Amino acid sequence: MPISSAFAQRLSKNLPDIADHFGTPFHLYDESGIRETGATLKTAFAQVVQFQEFFAVKALPNPHILHILREMGFGFDCSSIPELILARQTGAGGSDIMFTSNNTAPEEFAAALGNGGCILNLDDISLIDKVPYLPEKVAFRYNPGARRTGNAIIGKPEEAKFGVPHDQLIAAYQHALARGAQHFGLHTMLVSNERDYRYMLETTQMLLNVAMWLRAETGITLDFINIGGGFGIPYRPEDTPLDLAALSHGMTSLLENFGTEYGSVPALYMENGRYLTGRHGVLVTRAINHKDSYRRYIGVDANMSALMRPGMYGAYHHITVHDKHDATELEIVDVVGSLCENNDKFAIQRSLPHIEAGDLLLIHDTGAHGHAMGFNYNGRLRPQELLLRTDGSVTRIRRAETLDDYFATLNFAPEDWQP
Ligand SMILES: *Cc1c(COP(=O)(O)O)cnc(C)c1O
Repeated sequence: MPISSAFAQRLSKNLPDIADHFGTPFHLYDESGIRETGATLKTAFAQVVQFQEFFAVKALPNPHILHILREMGFGFDCSSIPELILARQTGAGGSDIMFTSNNTAPEEFAAALGNGGCILNLDDISLIDKVPYLPEKVAFRYNPGARRTGNAIIGKPEEAKFGVPHDQLIAAYQHALARGAQHFGLHTMLVSNERDYRYMLETTQMLLNVAMWLRAETGITLDFINIGGGFGIPYRPEDTPLDLAALSHGMTSLLENFGTEYGSVPALYMENGRYLTGRHGVLVTRAINHKDSYRRYIGVDANMSALMRPGMYGAYHHITVHDKHDATELEIVDVVGSLCENNDKFAIQRSLPHIEAGDLLLIHDTGAHGHAMGFNYNGRLRPQELLLRTDGSVTRIRRAETLDDYFATLNFAPEDWQP
């Protein structure tokens, strides 16, 4: 299932009124759904000795959403200065913030260490000496490379720019120890939008094996392992959801077995973005044009500036038409925005009910990596964001961009350089 039927129901009754009140297009997020998924995640890992989710701020960097997640006890995974500011505005600090940057600049380290600090997750051995000082808790992002991935882990870690390669890992911890770090963690992120729980179990086992090796080589006992984010959601109606119960069961027993052998159990950290909020958002857009060319096109009032994933990755986002769920006659159409790029399409050759100008289309599962990825190419502005509260009211939590926003960077004091 794409968005849950409960969310669809909560939305459908008042959608035309909401659209009339706020205007289209908009992303709308479902507070009840976000809270339910958050509670499900926490319950699933309640058996683990110490569990913490650090929401990946990049997925949905809106303060109102971050406040909800903070209220639920989650920390934040940040990788830039604005993300650190957003996380700290919720009151999070110190051990609630994981700073997982790469190709890090000095001012980013300064921002990460200031204002209450963070858990510092370093991406390379060369960065240890570039940090002004090491905070209490330090982790390294591990890149296992090709040799150690077995056959199951997808992607090609050896081609990824992230992480400390296997052969430098021991030296990295030794160097951090020599520089005064006292508490250590180990991080990796090897999957993205993965719905097969066995990959996450493999990642966990891999990190636990590294923990053993690390202690043998350096004497360091890890405080935590961080298996990264990447838990997948079912974007397509036929996709099976991640089996969270099997995952938490498997992980709990991996950690228990490890504890018996190792003498202690590291805390289990994760930093999911998509899994927490992805299904709890929709992009609502109105059909404004319809064109019969070699294909039939439905033109809507949103475009790629609101949602990059279809154009950028060819990602599937389910689309429904408000009040036309029961339509029996379907048409094959492309649903398009107005950018002068042919990949500005929300759907390609999709079967949808007959759509007329004025109809409201729901583009599903835009609660993560949706609005946040938007851009201004072609002079297109990003839309507003709304929050459907648990009491049924709707709050605007970000306004749409205006022409003044677009032209703001052209407004500056003149400056020249002469040779
Ligand atoms: C993007 C990212 C995440 C979140 O990914 P999701 O697919 O949203 O779970 C977590 N950790 C790191 C380091 C990331 O870059």
